[in-house]
Amino acid sequence: MTAPTPPTNNAPHAAGATRKRDPINWPTSLFLILSPIAAAVAVPLYIADYGLSLFEILHFVVLCYVSGLGVTVGYHRLFAHRAYKAPRAVQVITALAGTMTFQQSVLTWTSEHRYHHKYVDQNGFPYDPYSITMGFFYAHMGWLLRRRSPALPRTNVNDLQKDAFLRFQDRHIVILMVLMGLGVPTLIGMGYALVAGLPLAQGTLSGFIFGGIARIVFVQHGTFFINSLSHYMGRRPYDGESTARDSSFVAFFTWGEGYHNYHHAFQTDYRCGIRAWHFDPGKWVIWSLERLGLAKKLGRIPEATVRMSILREKRRRIESSDPLWLENAGEQVREAVQALETRLEEMHGRARVLWREYRNLREQRVGRRNERIRALRAELRTLMDEFRETLRRWEEVIAGAHLRPALAQ
Ligand SMILES: [Zn+2]
Ligand SMILES: [Zn+2]
Repeated sequence: MTAPTPPTNNAPHAAGATRKRDPINWPTSLFLILSPIAAAVAVPLYIADYGLSLFEILHFVVLCYVSGLGVTVGYHRLFAHRAYKAPRAVQVITALAGTMTFQQSVLTWTSEHRYHHKYVDQNGFPYDPYSITMGFFYAHMGWLLRRRSPALPRTNVNDLQKDAFLRFQDRHIVILMVLMGLGVPTLIGMGYALVAGLPLAQGTLSGFIFGGIARIVFVQHGTFFINSLSHYMGRRPYDGESTARDSSFVAFFTWGEGYHNYHHAFQTDYRCGIRAWHFDPGKWVIWSLERLGLAKKLGRIPEATVRMSILREKRRRIESSDPLWLENAGEQVREAVQALETRLEEMHGRARVLWREYRNLREQRVGRRNERIRALRAELRTLMDEFRETLRRWEEVIAGAHLRPALAQ
């Protein structure tokens, strides 16, 4: 594919100017505007005529999860980030489930998403297709309403272009989205009507409205919130200079993708919510697939690396509010901080080496009882205990130096 000629200057486009100049993408715009209107009219009309049964609620919720997880587990973490490996069946099923959300093909989605990560917040060329710096609405869905020029070349998905199934999905994406996103739910509704002895017309409408159009609108805006709200609202514990933010609230509506500051910092991790209590159905599905032998090589950032990134971010925040803090903190504090940080860096390096060996051995399926794996696990546990204790002392020293306010996130 030939790359388009980039603009001669790399200055950011003025948001308004870009939107005025670029032609409207009519099919996408009409779909994005008419589908919520159709859902808002059809749902109450259906309920007024037929009432609301458990089937409609279950159909809506189950297909929200199936199709939303198709995007999260398939489009996003498997294809766009290659955060794990999966056999053909899982690739095809997740791609088809993602197709149900009317978010274009894996190739289109992935290409835009990789540009988003690589050029996040940049508006020159190449650019972040859904940059939050162009405004909340633009990042949410405004970017889809016009055909932005120059278009971004798809050269960043050459790895996926080799896949015949993904090329097929891309070539026939419109018909596949209609069949999977509207056809399948309508058939499910018809099947339910036949089994439950209801009029076929009722089942057809029920399936089309609740499993189809209303569910598509809900899931689409869930995904759109990752580009808008997740770059707008929440905490930034790993990288305070990125616009991406962590929010449990957004995670709840986005199958776990709301831990977006972490995701931008560590894209190859198959998890977005890394703590056990983080609501991340995407990671639970991938983890379960691994247990069933249907996924392998799950990307996982070692705990020491994650904690070091939090430490560095805290350090950056202190330095940006008070560049001379260490010099002014006094010799005793300065020496203590430096010694603790040196020790933490050493332990981090050692933890990464141990972690790599541990992961490699586990991937080779040597078995849980393997002596070396057991020894590595024990060494890592001891190392991490000391690491956490050293980190706690670091926090204490910093707090003791009256820098606590600067640590607030
Ligand atoms: Zn991503
Ligand atoms: Zn993002």
